[in-house]
Amino acid sequence: MSKNLKNTPKTKASGVGYLIDYIKSSISRLIPSTCLLCGIDGDHLICHGCDTQFFSSKIKRCISCALPIFSHDSHCGECLKKRFKFDTTIVACDYAAPFDQLVLSLKFGHRLAVASALADLLAKAILAPSNKIELPDLLIPVPLSRQRLAQRGFNQALEIAKPLAQSLNLLIYPNLLERVRDTKAQTLLHPDERQENIKHAFLPNPNYTDRIRGQHIGVVDDVMTTGATLHEVAACLKRHGAARVSNIVFARTPPH
Ligand SMILES: [Zn+2]
Ligand SMILES: [Zn+2]
Repeated sequence: MSKNLKNTPKTKASGVGYLIDYIKSSISRLIPSTCLLCGIDGDHLICHGCDTQFFSSKIKRCISCALPIFSHDSHCGECLKKRFKFDTTIVACDYAAPFDQLVLSLKFGHRLAVASALADLLAKAILAPSNKIELPDLLIPVPLSRQRLAQRGFNQALEIAKPLAQSLNLLIYPNLLERVRDTKAQTLLHPDERQENIKHAFLPNPNYTDRIRGQHIGVVDDVMTTGATLHEVAACLKRHGAARVSNIVFARTPPH
């Protein structure tokens, strides 16, 4: 069953959780950091000024795919024609300068601390009062193939999902889905080829199939481009009985 955000008080971190949060925030105060966007020194990876300037705008987005829309419709023109298998998409920003730097520094600069800054910005987007979003029952990351995981050493989607699950007080199932087919990197393909490339790439881990049926599942990723991968993830989850699938993605590639 889905929980309505408005009726779901955030439970207070208790005991050990509270202590860990306290230690983490104390450490972050002791270690000076530099804002990833403007470079000024401070206590946070995104300074207050950049947070206000870049992440407080109220862009109206398509309920389904999160592309910006400039009409009174709830869905963009593409989503009115083509139905994605996921129900909704929440993003923190467009995948464009200066936000693309954040994703690149997470993926290729191996800065896992960046992941928690991105998770904070995503949590803020989800909890924004203007959003009438139902919190999912659980979170999963978009899985990487074994080969990609071995090359990179970590799954950036999981690194964002972990602190996000903690701040939203949700369960996370990192291995609920498995990438069973190695696919070509989607970024190397023409948009028209992406859906075919990713088809049947995911399967539920047999140990967790009972966690899918009837559940509202939040699928976390760093960037959404055509939506082909997230469509395939949602198709797999829905085939196995998921009631609802919400994408929770840091950045959305704008239309070109
Ligand atoms: Zn800044
Ligand atoms: Zn759309």
